[in-house]
Amino acid sequence: MLISAEIEVNPLFGSIWDRCVDYWSLALRTGEGAYTGSANMGQKNSQISSEDELLRKIVRSARLRTRSGQDYGIRLGIGDDAALWRPRPGFETVLTTDWFLEGTHFLRNLHPPESVGWKCLARAVSDIAAMGGEPRCFLLSLGLPENRTGKWLDQFLAGIKRASRKLRCHLIGGDTTQRNEILINLCVIGEVKKGFPAKRSGATAGDRIFVSGRLGEAELGLRLLRKNRPSTLHTHSLIRKHLYPEPRIKLGSWLSSNRVATAMMDLSDGLSTDLARLCKASETGARIYSNKLPQASEKFSCRLTPAERTYAALHGGDDYELLFSVTSKTAPRIPRKFLGIELTEIGEITKENEIKLIEPSGQAIPLHAEGWDPFRK
Ligand SMILES: [Mg+2]
Repeated sequence: MLISAEIEVNPLFGSIWDRCVDYWSLALRTGEGAYTGSANMGQKNSQISSEDELLRKIVRSARLRTRSGQDYGIRLGIGDDAALWRPRPGFETVLTTDWFLEGTHFLRNLHPPESVGWKCLARAVSDIAAMGGEPRCFLLSLGLPENRTGKWLDQFLAGIKRASRKLRCHLIGGDTTQRNEILINLCVIGEVKKGFPAKRSGATAGDRIFVSGRLGEAELGLRLLRKNRPSTLHTHSLIRKHLYPEPRIKLGSWLSSNRVATAMMDLSDGLSTDLARLCKASETGARIYSNKLPQASEKFSCRLTPAERTYAALHGGDDYELLFSVTSKTAPRIPRKFLGIELTEIGEITKENEIKLIEPSGQAIPLHAEGWDPFRK
C-alpha cells in the first residue's frame, strides 16, 4: 500500500491555510502596478499543456505581502527577466543553493507532494540559519514530468507556499523544464548583520560543542514512514520531523548576532559527517560523549534499542538542527532551552586532528563520518 496521496495537509498547521488560500493577491511587477489574480489550489487538478501554463500556476502560488515587497528587500519580483533585491543598510547578503531530487532526496510514492514542497524550502533556508542569517526570498527551478503538473504540482506548491509564509521567504523567480523525474533546485537569498555571520571555521581547542533539538529523529521518522503505517502519520512527531523540518532561524540569528557561537553549521547529513566538516574548517578535532547526545525520546521510539537510537543520533541525516561551539567561559551561560528548543552540550573541541566518541565506560573510539554522502560507494 502506498502512502503518497494520503497526507495533504501538514498536521502542524492544520487546514486553516487551505480555507484561506482560495484567493490571494499577487504582485507580478512590483513597482509597476500590481496584478490581482486568484487561485484555488485545492480544486485545480488539470495537467498543463505548455510551459507558460506551468509558469502561471507557479506565479499564482507566489504572493508578496506588500506590493513593493519592501519588507523583504524585493525591488522587483516575478514577471521580468530577473528579480531585483537588496539587503537593508547594515546587513549583507547571504546566499545558498540546494538540490532536492526525486530518487535521491525523496521518493515519489513515499513522500507526500505537500511535504516535498515544505521540505525543499525548509532545508535550503536551514543553510541561511546556519550562517546566522534570515531568509528573504528564493528562486525555484523545477524539472517535471508532464503527469506531475496536475494534482502533484498543486500540492507541492501548497507546501512551498506554507513554508514560504512560515519562514518569511518569498518566491521571486526561477525556471522550469520538462523532465522524466522530478528535479527541484532552490536558491535562497537572505541577510545577515554586517560582520556577524557565523562560520564553520572559528572553533578553537577548549571550546564546548552544543547541538539544538534531538538528533536522529528525522532518520527514525523515515524508517517509520517506510513501514507504511498511515494511522501514525499525522501525529507521530518523528515522521513530522522527517517530512516538515523547521530550520532554526531565530536560534542561529541569536547565536551569531550576539557573538555567542565561535563556529556554527546546520546538521543536514548527520552529526558524524557534519562535525568532521566543522572541525576540518576550524583545523581542530573534537571529543563527543555518547551519553550526552540528545537522542529521540523513548516515548516515540520505544521499539528501538538504545544502540539504534544512538546510531541514528550520530549518523542520521535531515535533522536540520544547529551544531555550534562556544568558549568554555560562555558555555555555562547557554540556556537549556531557546524558544522551547533544547540546547545540549555534547563535547569539546580538541587540538588533535581527530574526532573521538567517548563511551559511557570512558573508552575513546574514533568517530568516522558515516552520515549521508551521495557519492559513498
Ligand atoms: Mg548546511
